[in-house]
Amino acid sequence: MLSGMERLNDCFAAGDRLLTVGEAAERLRTRLGPAVGRERVPLAEARGRILAEPLVSGLDVPGYDNAAVDGYAFAHGRAHYRIAGRAAAGRPFPHPLGPGEAVRILTGAPVPEGADTVAMQEDCELDGETVTVPAGLKAGANYRMAGENIRRGEAIFGAGQRLGPLQLGVAASLGETALDVFRPLRVALFSTGDELARPGEPLAPGQVYDSNRTMLRAFLEADGLAVTDLGILPDDAPSVKAALAGAAAGHDAVMTSAGISTGDEDHVAAAVPALHFWRLAVKPGRPLALGSIGNAAFVGLPGNPVAAAACLLMLVRPMLGLLGGAGWETPPSVLVPAGFAMKKKTGRREWLRVRLGEDGAARKAGPDGSALLRVMAEADGLLDVPEDVAAIAPGDRFPMLRL
Ligand code: AMP
Ligand code: MG
Repeated sequence: MLSGMERLNDCFAAGDRLLTVGEAAERLRTRLGPAVGRERVPLAEARGRILAEPLVSGLDVPGYDNAAVDGYAFAHGRAHYRIAGRAAAGRPFPHPLGPGEAVRILTGAPVPEGADTVAMQEDCELDGETVTVPAGLKAGANYRMAGENIRRGEAIFGAGQRLGPLQLGVAASLGETALDVFRPLRVALFSTGDELARPGEPLAPGQVYDSNRTMLRAFLEADGLAVTDLGILPDDAPSVKAALAGAAAGHDAVMTSAGISTGDEDHVAAAVPALHFWRLAVKPGRPLALGSIGNAAFVGLPGNPVAAAACLLMLVRPMLGLLGGAGWETPPSVLVPAGFAMKKKTGRREWLRVRLGEDGAARKAGPDGSALLRVMAEADGLLDVPEDVAAIAPGDRFPMLRL
């Protein structure tokens, strides 16, 4: 069996040929899996966590046949019934119904034995103790069968399922009080660059505020990862090396932005012994560096904020999801028509920042520069234009990843 580190290096060693985003995704998807242990957490603390064991129902839900509306329950076949009593939610009618009998019934109440149909109260006529049910009502109407939602023994969610409010509601409907989930993936996050200042500090000439760290931390935390924000590293190989090695010891992954291209001041590469550059055929997005430090995965994102965000959304987030126990999650997208014309280089994919008009068509949200984070923040999504497209015409449809 490969150790965690060997598995990472085997996956990341993609050679230096140009990779399409699809090839890159496939490589990650087929070679990586959970790198975290599991724990049991109460339902109330499980939001955003990832199931480590399939959730198998010990119950039928609903547990008994019941009424879908307020009205009258009876055995289908007659026009008039004698009202024999009442069934409310939590207070069943205690006897089987006799021939020609109906009960007044409220939504969610068990349907008494002998009844197979429920008529809505608005459609019925009452005369003393007799109810007349609507002609033409089908047998079985307004009748919820035991187990129609969930069957006892059924696997409802598989391992890898993310737990949102709806999934937690289902778990509660099964009577669960706690769930087996993966421990959150621990990510150490750094920015790198001598030009970076922290918001709140004065800007010296030639400095810019560090925007990547705030943005990346927010994306990662929204995915349920446990992020340690370790600040800004200088453009100095020994300090970068020491800081990354220290961080790797207590984390499952170490993430940096900037300092990984081939400029003179790119010291991150020198600090990561097992490092692989992925040359991705995509705009914006290059370069993306992947590797390992000790047993931790290393992710080196580009410095330009738009490129960092795009790489994170399209490849790195799904990759960290895999390490954290989720299955491969393709970024969700919808098909939208382009509302513009554009020539494009073939052989590379483009992620265009677009806004949706009232006509439902996508138009460029602004200029393309990968330093222009504001344009991306004002966009509704990234229009995902494939490698083989040479020109976009109005009306051509492409997937759009919602931002
Ligand atoms: P580099 O990859 O180090 O050459 O950086 C590319 C560009 O991204 C430069 O213009 C950097 O100033 C900018 N950049 C790098 N890191 C950050 C950051 N954390 N926040 C904002 N801009 C950054
Ligand atoms: Mg730099």
